[in-house]
Amino acid sequence: MEIMSKIKTIAAETGFGESGYVAIENLKYYQEIRKICEENTCRNYATSWACPPAVGTIAECKARVNQYDKMLLFSQAYKMEDSFDFEGMVEGLHNFKKMVDRFQQNLGNVLSEYLLLSNEGCGRCSKCTYPDAPCRFPQFLHHSLEGYGFIVNELAKEAGIRYNNGSNTVTYFGALLFNTEKN
Ligand code: SF4
Repeated sequence: MEIMSKIKTIAAETGFGESGYVAIENLKYYQEIRKICEENTCRNYATSWACPPAVGTIAECKARVNQYDKMLLFSQAYKMEDSFDFEGMVEGLHNFKKMVDRFQQNLGNVLSEYLLLSNEGCGRCSKCTYPDAPCRFPQFLHHSLEGYGFIVNELAKEAGIRYNNGSNTVTYFGALLFNTEKN
């Protein structure tokens, strides 16, 4: 279990405000979330290798997750000027994505195999290669947490961390899946 607290410490050192473990056996996958993706209000659907349909069906996502025995959910809250502060939201998301990259770097010496999921789409390249050519940076491809069919609010509750950090804030989430045995 030492590895679990080590990973949590690395998440805190990376700068994530909160993190907590979610029992793999308690994970619920919702086909309805995939329907929301398809409605494309986030404009990420079918635009990158990080989002549906490229991440596969919900069953395929579940099978990928089930290769691991631990899930650490982590989050970071960002202040906005008001609830219409779209620029602030985008800036927060960019910052969060950078933190996820840093987390991956920091995990380098501790974990060899893992699955790192991040909030929403990718956005690493100015124009994604999807669907014409493979991802340019598969080693930094972090699938969308929502794209796996999770209700993030539910995950946060399971992990014992806040989903909402109050008015005029936006909170982004990611998840790390790993095995306690193999690493
Ligand atoms: S890293 Fe680039 S090519 Fe790969 S999914 Fe992201 S935007 Fe697309």
